Amino acid sequence: MKAVVWHGKHDVRVETVPDPQILNPQDAIVRVTLTAICGSDLHLYDGLIPTMKSGDILGHEFVGEVVEVGSKVSNLSVGDRVIVPFPIACGQCWYCKKEMWSLCDNSNPNSFMPEKLYGDTGAGIFGYSHLYGGYAGGQAEFVRVPYADIGPKKIPEGLSDEQVIFCTDVLPTGYQAALNCHIEQGDTVAVWGCGPVGLLAMKCASQLGAGKVIGIDRFPDRLAMAQNHCGAEIINYEEGSVAEQLHNMTGGRGPDSCIDAVGMEAHSTGLEGAYDAVKQTLRLEMDRPGALRQLIMACRKGGTVSIPGVYGGLIDKMPMGAVFAKGLTLHAGQTHVQKHIPPLLELIEKGDIDSTFIISHRIPLDEAPAAYEMFKRKQTGCIKIVMRPRQAEYQR
Ligand code: NAD
Ligand code: ZN
Repeated sequence: MKAVVWHGKHDVRVETVPDPQILNPQDAIVRVTLTAICGSDLHLYDGLIPTMKSGDILGHEFVGEVVEVGSKVSNLSVGDRVIVPFPIACGQCWYCKKEMWSLCDNSNPNSFMPEKLYGDTGAGIFGYSHLYGGYAGGQAEFVRVPYADIGPKKIPEGLSDEQVIFCTDVLPTGYQAALNCHIEQGDTVAVWGCGPVGLLAMKCASQLGAGKVIGIDRFPDRLAMAQNHCGAEIINYEEGSVAEQLHNMTGGRGPDSCIDAVGMEAHSTGLEGAYDAVKQTLRLEMDRPGALRQLIMACRKGGTVSIPGVYGGLIDKMPMGAVFAKGLTLHAGQTHVQKHIPPLLELIEKGDIDSTFIISHRIPLDEAPAAYEMFKRKQTGCIKIVMRPRQAEYQR
């Protein structure tokens, strides 16, 4: 089959690799009909997530059709169209039972790696390094889906691949980021990063009762999307102090909640930007936390800092004094996708949420290498790329 294969920093290729096979009675094989590139994939593309190996198949956002099931999978049949959540979870452990699916105790066969790095393991993730289990990803014609009796959700009749593909990741991620803000009616929510996660977090924040949503970025096309599609007020962080502008927009108090939809590759200007870039390159600091520092400094006293943006390790100059002095609450983590799919599907079916507006490029899987580069460079108009492994079968 064809698959998008990682070979090193800024080196992904479309190659012919062996088809996946059922390895466990709880597995299913899914023929991928639509897949997408995530901001998290850029962290792999930029060589910032450790434990990638040359030959790893990328991709954790995909929907498709079941073509084979293991003997213990009774909930799915060949021919079912399914949404596959990006975290792989067993459904039986203490964390899964509490709906903390991305913290599953059992699905990461390399749990010793995160245990060493972070003190404990999270769930395995499709196509996301050996630290997260070394599973082959879904930017491919076929993918092996472990715990297929637990994770995948059937696509409701009448919904297209495009209407549901973001249920695999960025829509629940925006939703969980907003839920973690514990929004009260009329609250102000500021969102750093107007990429797919940030835009969908803005949509969900409004849905959950925010009175004012503010989007922060530097790319005019992304800021325009926040304004036009998410009803956000906007700040270009290259034009003056973000904290000052936010205070002016909130009667001097600061936003009630701040969402970090940027993560470990924040772009910062001036001395701070140079400091983080050098330290990250020398591996003296794993992440560039420029946006996170701003969130903490701008958030109102007693407010919430919600962090869907991915961080990998140690950061410098973390304003912990401000977190303490202002009594902030921090929420972070990979998304518990399995938990959020049912309520989100309901909203999609009712027409209350439509995430298809973020799709800017529809391309064949063969064009993945150029697509990664375009998405990385944030070339004008490139917000979210979806890829189809087989051109002929594609229907919007
Ligand atoms: P993206 O790369 O398209 O968007 C990131 C945006 O942040 C860009 O528009 C960029 O210009 C902006 N940005 C950079 N520096 C900034 C700064 N200092 N201030 C404000 N904006 C800044 O990525 P995405 O797909 O939207 O993903 C965003 C983050 O969410 C990534 O870190 C990704 O790994 C993470 N993510 C997490 C989960 C999860 O489960 N928690 C799931 C999906 C994605
Ligand atoms: Zn993702």
